[in-house]
Amino acid sequence: MDKKDIKKFEKVLSQESKRITKELKTIAKEDTRPKGDFDTRFPEWGQSPDENALEVTMYEKTLPVEFTLELRLKEIEEALEKIKKGQYGLCQACQKVISLARLEALPEAKLCLDCVKKKTQKS
Ligand SMILES: [Zn+2]
Repeated sequence: MDKKDIKKFEKVLSQESKRITKELKTIAKEDTRPKGDFDTRFPEWGQSPDENALEVTMYEKTLPVEFTLELRLKEIEEALEKIKKGQYGLCQACQKVISLARLEALPEAKLCLDCVKKKTQKS
């Protein structure tokens, strides 16, 4: 891949990583131990049963959002790591080059379209 393209994707990925980290910080407090792991903040609105029920509902709503963001952040970090190692843009399954169009749409893509298709057909 062109060095210029790699630079471009590196920029996109690090911006995306910062954005997601910021978003995660608004819904969860950062857990400093495993890097990039966040605990969903449990809202404390009050002690009445109504308030407690609301807190639980909020917590349950935030949890999947946090999980999705965390997963995406992890994939972005992995992609950035690959850039450092000079392996960016290669499919993890078949080692072929992932098309630029696919990376434009999903810079953290780990698999080429062929492998994604194979994977979805199997399951
Ligand atoms: Zn592949």
